Amino acid sequence: MSDCLFCKIIAGDIPADKIYEDDEVLAFRDIAPQAPTHFLVIPKKHYSDLSEIHREDDQLVGKIVRTGAELAAQEGLDKGYRVIFNNGPEGCQIVFHVHMHILGGRQLRGPLG
Ligand code: AMP
Repeated sequence: MSDCLFCKIIAGDIPADKIYEDDEVLAFRDIAPQAPTHFLVIPKKHYSDLSEIHREDDQLVGKIVRTGAELAAQEGLDKGYRVIFNNGPEGCQIVFHVHMHILGGRQLRGPLG
């Protein structure tokens, strides 16, 4: 998607602080961190939101979650962390390329919604 911010990061057209990359997923630090550790894990294939994820994507979604958990451990988030998929306008999604937030490094607070 030529007008997608995260597709531009995947393509290397926009810089990002990458912490993991393979042929299917990319993880990079959020540009406006909401916690001491805040990174995103995204599929390299463009899906605008979770409504575009289908049964054939089950393995990829599992890989996104596992990669996030492994990176959280690598980042030292051994006391816990929050995992968030904001989805759609009312779900506070701003970048319309599916992404999983991982936040941690302090006691997280606040209502979810
Ligand atoms: P969301 O509200 O779930 O769509 O969140 C999008 C996230 O992308 C926000 O936390 C932004 O701070 C983050 N973000 C936006 N632009 C960039 C960028 N160039 N590099 C890293 N993170 C970004």
